Amino acid sequence: MLNLILFGPPGAGKGTQSQHLINRHQLIHLSTGDLLRSEITQGTQLGLEAKALMDEGKLVPDAIVIGMIESKLNEYPKANGFIFDGFPRTTAQAAALDNLLNGKSIPISLMIALEVPEQELIDRLVSRGLVSGRTDDTPETIKKRLDVYQSQTSIVSDHYKQQNKFVAISGVGELEDVFDRIEAEIKKIV
Ligand code: AMP
Repeated sequence: MLNLILFGPPGAGKGTQSQHLINRHQLIHLSTGDLLRSEITQGTQLGLEAKALMDEGKLVPDAIVIGMIESKLNEYPKANGFIFDGFPRTTAQAAALDNLLNGKSIPISLMIALEVPEQELIDRLVSRGLVSGRTDDTPETIKKRLDVYQSQTSIVSDHYKQQNKFVAISGVGELEDVFDRIEAEIKKIV
């Protein structure tokens, strides 16, 4: 069982690297951002409430994202493992994830943080916004999301450092090079 958390600020490349990792290791990709955007597309009440917060670059309440992750975990009882992308984003979410996974005896294997300088994050997100149609990839919301990452999310790494399950790598460079760095870290634990 390989349970990875891909960690890092918006624009660090978590989604892109997740796609490669799920193919290589047959893992289930759980992105709370994707799950929320799917609720928005379906026009659900949850989606409607989440959209207002997302468009402001704010976090959606812990209980909502934890509930979504719990039901997804229950959907895949026979999975080879999971990649958590964009979750946990608060220490309360990290504690809830530990509880959920420990209850199933499938604890987190490793948190891998992708490090990218702030100006490159902004450049990447602005470029993505031109093609993604994401309403939160605007200069104003990007700034807010980066602030929220610094003030509420970056600290989540401490939770995994305390468990000796944290590693940081450079997220700069060619996609394949970043992927190789991630793979090198995975090889150390399997
Ligand atoms: P992402 O696609 O991961 O960049 O997430 C887009 C937006 O969805 C974030 O800016 C938040 O508003 C919301 N979101 C995604 N994941 C979470 C989470 N784990 N906790 C709270 N809000 C989240």
